[in-house]
Amino acid sequence: MNLPIYLDHNATTPCDPGVVAAMLPYFTQNFGNASSRNHSFGWHAEEAVDYAREQVALLIGAEPKEIVFTSGATEADNLAIKGVYEMYASKGNHIITVVTEHKAVLDTCRHIEKLGAEVTYLKVNTDGLIDLQELEAAIKPTTILIAIMYANNETGTIQPMKEIGAIAKKHGVIFFSDATQAVGKIPVDVKNDDIDLLAMTAHKMYGPKGIGALYVRRKNPRVKLTAQMDGGGHERGMRSGTLNVPGIVGFGKACELCLHEMQQDAERLSKLRDRLENALLKLGEVYINGSKEHRLPHVSNMSFKYAEGEALLMGLNKEIALSSGSACTSASIEPSHVLKALGLDDELAHSSLRFGLGRYTTSEEIEYTIVQVSKTVKKLRGLSPLWEKSKEEAGAK
Ligand SMILES: *Cc1c(COP(=O)(O)O)cnc(C)c1O
Repeated sequence: MNLPIYLDHNATTPCDPGVVAAMLPYFTQNFGNASSRNHSFGWHAEEAVDYAREQVALLIGAEPKEIVFTSGATEADNLAIKGVYEMYASKGNHIITVVTEHKAVLDTCRHIEKLGAEVTYLKVNTDGLIDLQELEAAIKPTTILIAIMYANNETGTIQPMKEIGAIAKKHGVIFFSDATQAVGKIPVDVKNDDIDLLAMTAHKMYGPKGIGALYVRRKNPRVKLTAQMDGGGHERGMRSGTLNVPGIVGFGKACELCLHEMQQDAERLSKLRDRLENALLKLGEVYINGSKEHRLPHVSNMSFKYAEGEALLMGLNKEIALSSGSACTSASIEPSHVLKALGLDDELAHSSLRFGLGRYTTSEEIEYTIVQVSKTVKKLRGLSPLWEKSKEEAGAK
């Protein structure tokens, strides 16, 4: 076993070697511009892009023409929200989203609020799930978009996509989902869930960084967007700029591999995740954050009460790469907006760790992680007067 152990797959994943092998010829021999119509260099590149577009579409149940390549999920989120806001301005200015969305969605909403949009931020329950009745009640005649993520990046909580899609359809509102964490990990089908726009990125599913896509529905309804990048009219006018051919080829290959390996990865990783959770829960005063029932199979977010968060991460991060429930901003350490929305106090939010398992995670690595996390939590609790006090109180009962 090699150290350090990587358990931060929600932040990014390594490239699958098959992905790298597929990409390599497109840096050197097949380096053509996919828009060059006059020679074979261009034709080969275009062919490769067309093939990748099919691979990406297949993974989410879309048509190849409905895939718009972008630089990643952040750009796809921006294009979806700003693109709808501008295109449907004559219909209305109201958008519904959720407080636990990724910053790429929340900050984009904040941006268009300054331009005149009205945004409703739905709350979540202690499991991180939205209330469908609240969603439906929030829809008004001016509502043009519902933006709700598929699975949360911090907790893995999966929202009820099919039910949300049905509500959006019933009211004739466009439904956009940031599905970055779900695509390639669990079955995602835009037709089945009535999703009209969907953001994804290659580097969270064993593909390269700097390439992603926005799915844009073409039928029932045909969704239109105002481009956010003007220029040569690439990607049916929705996203100008020379296509990142090697990235697109790698993204396509990553989608193909996920389609084949998703089920066995999920089964194996959910067992390892459950083993990790059950072992760490034995420490006592350990809490699982987010829904246990509606959750990605490879993710666990846990709070270790009475173990100071920063010290916990510092004690582990030489050997185990993990994220915590604190977001370091330039000035201070802020507790995660997602954990706070679930109702955690600052202390519990700060003492959380996010375990994101991946395709190459082994059982040996999980056993090592259990030992190291247990040791560190016990050590920190040993230094905590509050932990002593809570044990005394429990003993007195
Ligand atoms: C990682 C992530 C993003 C950002 O993706 P990039 O491709 O890095 O821009 C957006 N949304 C969610 C939910 C993510 O997990």
